Amino acid sequence: MQTQLFEQGLKLVIEALRSIQEQGDLRTDVQLLCRIEQFKEPAPLQSPFSNPAQEKTPLISEPIEEVKRETSRPRSGMDSQKWENLRLTVEACTKCPHLAASRHSVVFGVGNPEADLMFVGEAPGADEDMQGEPFVGRAGELLTRIIQTMGFRRSDVFIANVLKCRPNLPAGAPGNRQPTPEEMETCLPYLRKQIELIQPKAMVALGGVAMRGLFGKTEPMKQLRGRWYTFGSIPVMATYHPSYLLRNQAISEKRRVWEDMLQVLERLGLPISEKQRNYFMGGS
Ligand code: URA
Repeated sequence: MQTQLFEQGLKLVIEALRSIQEQGDLRTDVQLLCRIEQFKEPAPLQSPFSNPAQEKTPLISEPIEEVKRETSRPRSGMDSQKWENLRLTVEACTKCPHLAASRHSVVFGVGNPEADLMFVGEAPGADEDMQGEPFVGRAGELLTRIIQTMGFRRSDVFIANVLKCRPNLPAGAPGNRQPTPEEMETCLPYLRKQIELIQPKAMVALGGVAMRGLFGKTEPMKQLRGRWYTFGSIPVMATYHPSYLLRNQAISEKRRVWEDMLQVLERLGLPISEKQRNYFMGGS
């Protein structure tokens, strides 16, 4: 089994090297990259939301690979010095002394600082705090699948949180806690500055806490999701947090998130394949 996996991996790497040689740019071979990514997780990628343990009949049998997004705008002259200065400022922040004292890392955000699309979550959890990157735990894996099914790589978009530090818990307490409104208010200027520098064409707010942090909205997500809001001048689609989808396996909720993402693709003026449009056709 081990040898078989090794040989499979080796074959993919050789293919990748050949692709670089032939095309000069590995980024042109999204399909191959997807396959290499999947090699890390032997389970086949099914619907962006599928949980192989619980979902026997996948709604999507394979990832959308034929859609290659050309989203990066020509370099707009984004001030990389300003971006680095912001990163340094955020990483040194001690405005919330209780969070600065308990954090392992400041989770600034990840992805393309010139992205057209930005995802905003609530706050880093334990995994994110340890790795210094947003959305790397289970919810992050689901978010990554959604992003890929939209036709992007994780590195094409920018992913950030309202709060850059993990909300602290009493020593030894398991799990994560939600950020408080005060913590989010204190941290919001950093997100605002990130958005100002990135100037995305659209954003996605993931879940009620992000909606509260960005807009002060406290209505249930049932009411908020699927609609556009404006942050500064940037259109923001509200949708369910991926953690909610992990807790609630109802197809109807997954379909709603996917419909929200289709609205985002439309807003970005990107083509949507039949396969993408019909993912949840016939579901309950
Ligand atoms: N949930 C979030 O809102 N953000 C993360 O970075 C991880 C989980």
